[in-house]
Amino acid sequence: MSIVILSDIHSNLESFQAVLKDFSRERVDQVLCLGDVVGYAADPDHCIETLRGLTSHVVAGNHDWAVAGLADTSCFNPEARAAVEWTAGIITADHSAYLKGLPLTLCLPGMLLVHATPCQPESWDYIFSPDDAAMSFHHFDQQVCLTGHSHYPIAFAQDKEGTISVMWDSTFTLLESHRYLINVGSVGQPRDGDPRAAYGIYKPEDASFRLKRVPYDIKRAQEKIIAAGLPSFLAARLAAGR
Ligand code: ZN
Repeated sequence: MSIVILSDIHSNLESFQAVLKDFSRERVDQVLCLGDVVGYAADPDHCIETLRGLTSHVVAGNHDWAVAGLADTSCFNPEARAAVEWTAGIITADHSAYLKGLPLTLCLPGMLLVHATPCQPESWDYIFSPDDAAMSFHHFDQQVCLTGHSHYPIAFAQDKEGTISVMWDSTFTLLESHRYLINVGSVGQPRDGDPRAAYGIYKPEDASFRLKRVPYDIKRAQEKIIAAGLPSFLAARLAAGR
């Protein structure tokens, strides 16, 4: 069984298509998406349509909720808010209803899916450090919790004594004695200094996780952002991976 994990596509069709092409070479049994399908880039409808054709295992991100009118944008920065307003103004009613219907969490065998944190998903807090992760480990029972939101790929492992370590390698084996909190980074707007699209492949039978990075046509995505009249900062940051 091979599970592809996507997060934070953010309407970036170029990066999404590059990731699709990359995992089409693998035997994939299931695709999961950890939210923020929209916001920031210029192809929300096309990205939603593509995702819906791939999987029904999708949780809501804060941008999805904001575009659907379910989350307040007062804590969004001006560029993010502009992208939410632009997206809400152009997506189809059907896609808006789709975003509105996304759940905050999904439980699958051995896994919890959530965009931000399992503690209070709708608070959209971030998990950056082992201390942040410690709080989250109290709020799920499964062996694995999959998250996105920070656009920063990182994984934490907790042993039976509660000690948390950071898994720095992009490929690692999951030990039966440990539980894991895995952030797969962002397909559409990576912020860890590597501009390539990020996604994860989890193989429960081999107990293996692998973070993959995929180059894509950043220039084309940037041109579309500018042509749509979205803030130029949203185009510039793609090349920096910040
Ligand atoms: Zn996001």
